[in-house]
Amino acid sequence: MFAKRITIFRLLGFPIQVDLSWVFLVFLLGWSLSRGLFPNWYEQLAADTYTWMGILGTLGFVSSILLHELAHAVVARSYGLSIRSITLFIFGGVAELEDEPPHARAELWVTAAGPFASLLLAGTFYGLYLLSVQQLWPESAEGLFRYLAWLNGLLVVFNLIPAFPLDGGRILRAILWAWRKDLTWATRIAASIGSAFGSLMIGLAIVQLIFYKQMVQAFWWFLIGVFMRNASQSAFHRMRLREILRGEPIRPFVSLEDDALPSYLSIQQFVEEHLEKEPHSLYPVLDVNSNQLVGCVRVNDLYEMPPHEWPHNTLRAIAKPCAPELTIDIESDALQAVTQMNQQQSSRLMVLDQQSHYIGMITMQDLIRFLTKKMGFDEQEEPPMF
Ligand SMILES: [Zn+2]
Repeated sequence: MFAKRITIFRLLGFPIQVDLSWVFLVFLLGWSLSRGLFPNWYEQLAADTYTWMGILGTLGFVSSILLHELAHAVVARSYGLSIRSITLFIFGGVAELEDEPPHARAELWVTAAGPFASLLLAGTFYGLYLLSVQQLWPESAEGLFRYLAWLNGLLVVFNLIPAFPLDGGRILRAILWAWRKDLTWATRIAASIGSAFGSLMIGLAIVQLIFYKQMVQAFWWFLIGVFMRNASQSAFHRMRLREILRGEPIRPFVSLEDDALPSYLSIQQFVEEHLEKEPHSLYPVLDVNSNQLVGCVRVNDLYEMPPHEWPHNTLRAIAKPCAPELTIDIESDALQAVTQMNQQQSSRLMVLDQQSHYIGMITMQDLIRFLTKKMGFDEQEEPPMF
């Protein structure tokens, strides 16, 4: 979903990331606040004041979105869900969960927390606005509070539209899920409404462009419409994917080809016979007698030993303990394997049995092959389209 994003800081333990598209939003917003909205609301202020109001208003906007997403993330954490990141992007923010909420109640509370935080903020800023009018505070402060009250109110209303993946759509999904105990059905309905709402926005954008010549507004609505259609459909697909993978044993996909190397192999032989022929980022090293993992070798580990010593040393000398996150139990399911590969950014995992004997490798390609086969046979996979 995101082109390029960087982590800027951590808040309450959550990595806060920004997508490049967010920079565009910040400049556009700062500009339209200081050149459009504030001069319209208050006509007699100095040019510098409008600039400051624009900067502070943009900061308030970003903080409001962050607090909204933070509320989702904190409640998600209290349900034991891990949060990959909070990402700011062109349409606001998103708290990305590693996993789907375990039950409808968790989904409901995790989702409701965001609009609730925005509602609190809207109330607080509205109170400050009323106070500033009553106490005759400077118009710049009054304007900022007024804008932030209006903005947070707007965030509540927009997010409660029952169109997935907006919060309202997730709340609807949680209610449907609790009612029929069928997550697929609930997601299908919520995603269909999300998709329909996206199409409606695209339609309205075209009407605005043709009949009202509102270029900028039409452009935004069009973008949001396209985004909502894509997001609702891909959320539906992701959920179906997880369902197919869940409970599917990985045993049939484990390749028993000899990827692992014997610990007695010399480093020289390793380089010539394996690394140069079939390069991998990581090689498991085995004790051939016990069939236990001695450790793992990465290409970088080679350089810890000068090349003239390679013929006289074995892999055991440079192998390091394998990261447990790169190994998986043979009894795990395919969903666990995919989740672990995603988290570790690795397309291969080492499969061990319960006694830690090495069995083989499982790769992303094997899992994708299985998925394509499975989805090809299943007529239920039609995405919700409007
Ligand atoms: Zn939200």
